[in-house]
Amino acid sequence: MKITDHILCKKKNSLFSFEILPPLIGKNIKNTFFNLDRLMEFKPSFINVTYHNKEFIFLKQKNGLLKLKKISKRPGTISICATIIDKYQLDVVPHIICKNLNKKIVENILIDLNFLGINNILLLRGDNLKYGEKFFPKKNKYKYAYDLVKLVNNLNIKKNYPISDFCIGVAGYPEKHIESPNIESDLFFLKKKVESGANYIITQMFFDNKKYFSFVKKCRIEGIHIPIIPGIKPISSKKQLNSLPSKFYLSIPNELVKEIKKTKNKKNIYDIGIEWAIHQSKELKNYGTKIIHYYTMDKPENIYKILKYVF
Ligand code: FAD
Repeated sequence: MKITDHILCKKKNSLFSFEILPPLIGKNIKNTFFNLDRLMEFKPSFINVTYHNKEFIFLKQKNGLLKLKKISKRPGTISICATIIDKYQLDVVPHIICKNLNKKIVENILIDLNFLGINNILLLRGDNLKYGEKFFPKKNKYKYAYDLVKLVNNLNIKKNYPISDFCIGVAGYPEKHIESPNIESDLFFLKKKVESGANYIITQMFFDNKKYFSFVKKCRIEGIHIPIIPGIKPISSKKQLNSLPSKFYLSIPNELVKEIKKTKNKKNIYDIGIEWAIHQSKELKNYGTKIIHYYTMDKPENIYKILKYVF
């Protein structure tokens, strides 16, 4: 079932989905499914599986020295999607990022997805790499998520092209994308993604619902009328008070910052994050938000507790 059909479905008035990361290279998939098994209790509508670009990481050599190598740290997005369908008969949304793609590769990915019965995708540009490599795709490659959306949508509307019938999701940023000069510019490009064929938006995490409400309002004024699914992540450590704002360009409300700062015990910080996310989720539901998306970040224990109270 397409994500937009889930949202339109009248049987349930509140839905949720979540995002998982493929395991780190060399790690076992068992743990991923152990975590998923627990969350299945709440009957998610769909599961997103992230895609990870090759990254520079330091690998230890035989002589003990470290060497910088570029590898896929978390490969396996599509095979995890296939296993989720097989194991839970659930809809999945593989993420696809622009880096190193060309038209032929995209078509081949779509053929694979089509054979697996997957007709939902989330199209993204992808992040810059660590250690200074900027996101500069070479000639003939796709530079922005917009380029990918346009390509897939063109295939979608080709009558004689039977492999493409995808429901296309894209990312949106309630507090603007980190590289964007301002929210207006970011909305301008978000609208371009929508005009090129995106069917729904999933937002970057936010910790103040007012940011989401205001974003939705601005989108509607700009003529963006597709569903905007809010993305929620519970804070789980003191370190994240600095790392999340600097990595994702988002703000954390002072009330939450103060409460976490005065707390010494790690476990209590974790609980504060859960409570805050429960409060956010309940408020979003009261506002009439049909579906909430949770970022598990590989640690589903807190998501389990949130779902228990909210759904
Ligand atoms: P774009 O929409 O291409 O926008 C990137 C920037 O360029 C923005 O500042 C935008 O305003 C600007 N821009 C867009 N189009 C143009 C244009 N034509 N000309 C000039 N400027 C333009 N990353 C991963 O690597 N893997 C994942 O699985 C993943 N999943 C994600 C899921 C969600 C829900 C979200 C919110 C993010 C995810 N990301 C993921 C992170 C994402 O890849 C980064 O945030 C990335 O920096 C931007 O991706 P985008 O698709 O929003 O980019």
